[in-house]
Amino acid sequence: MMDPSAVLHIDLAAIAANWRALAMRAAPRAVAGVVKANAYGLGAVPVARALNAAGCRHFFVAHLSEGMSLRAGLGAGPIIAVLDGFAPGADEDAGLVPVLNSLGDVLAHAAAGRSAGRAQQALLHLDTGMARLGLDAGEQARLAADHSLLVGLDLLYVMSHLACADEADHPLNAEQAARFARACAALPKLPRSFANSSGLFLGADYASDLARPGCALYGINPTPGAPNPMLPVVRLEAPILQIRDIPAGASVGYGASFVAARPSRIATIAVGYADGYLRCLSGQGVVAYRDMILPMVGRVSMDLITLDVTDAPGIAPGDVLQLIGGAAPSPDDLAARAGTIGYEILTSLGDRYRRIYGAA
Ligand SMILES: *Cc1c(COP(=O)(O)O)cnc(C)c1O
Repeated sequence: MMDPSAVLHIDLAAIAANWRALAMRAAPRAVAGVVKANAYGLGAVPVARALNAAGCRHFFVAHLSEGMSLRAGLGAGPIIAVLDGFAPGADEDAGLVPVLNSLGDVLAHAAAGRSAGRAQQALLHLDTGMARLGLDAGEQARLAADHSLLVGLDLLYVMSHLACADEADHPLNAEQAARFARACAALPKLPRSFANSSGLFLGADYASDLARPGCALYGINPTPGAPNPMLPVVRLEAPILQIRDIPAGASVGYGASFVAARPSRIATIAVGYADGYLRCLSGQGVVAYRDMILPMVGRVSMDLITLDVTDAPGIAPGDVLQLIGGAAPSPDDLAARAGTIGYEILTSLGDRYRRIYGAA
């Protein structure tokens, strides 16, 4: 029997090329790699190694645990910043850099730095419109009024995060840029980190000393509505397990939600919602067989989906169908069909896929 498992091809060379394209866009300023959530589902260590080889020296993760395993995988050298922050010393000398998200974080790390007699490296996060993490306006004013609160800290960057960068005309973009500029002007002079992927396409006002792209590295379009300037990175394919003939009037799958209008050939593949092929793609998904687009029919099950292959002459068990990439939908296309964003398609990619790092 053939190996029925789906294969996820991840093109590290395309990720590196995407990073270089963004780095050229931002030059002479620096560009980091955001590799939180296991590099958006693609594998933090292999991705970060490829970025590091391309010249990337700053990495962002969300959790302390992500930072620890990334340090183990990358070795000493690159800066690894932890967006959620951590308590002083909690990185157990892994050399991780916390993002300070509140005045309380600032005071705790500054005190630790003073008592150790060694300034603590950190990034300072100012909230300018996300209302999620970062010092709020009142905390920013307290810091502005008393710079001595920062003694004990070695601040590498002051950062903020855009809420609407993927909507170029949204008024909050300019408002956040203005708030960030004003807040930075009231603090000691520090390098700044502002733009995410989409922010890099908003213009020179959004350039900062260190951009923090994530999604664009992984092939997601940072300029929705305009052609995607990034190279595709992922390709998902799966072999057909079985094909059966059903008569007109027969139903397929849970809930009998699909009823064949004609005698049909139904193919089954081993990809389901447990693999991140979202259940809301029921009746919405499509796959590619060579250059032919074939519709998914019936509900997405946990481990399987079913396709109508009636119009694909000669198709047989073992033939490989493309689910993402190539002639099949991109992550952004599949997201549109699922009513979500490409980020969620990527971060949902299951761990039952056989991952192959090579050309996609
Ligand atoms: C996730 C994240 C990024 C990267 O955003 P993309 O839209 O994927 O480029 C940058 N900065 C912060 C604070 C983030 O949380």
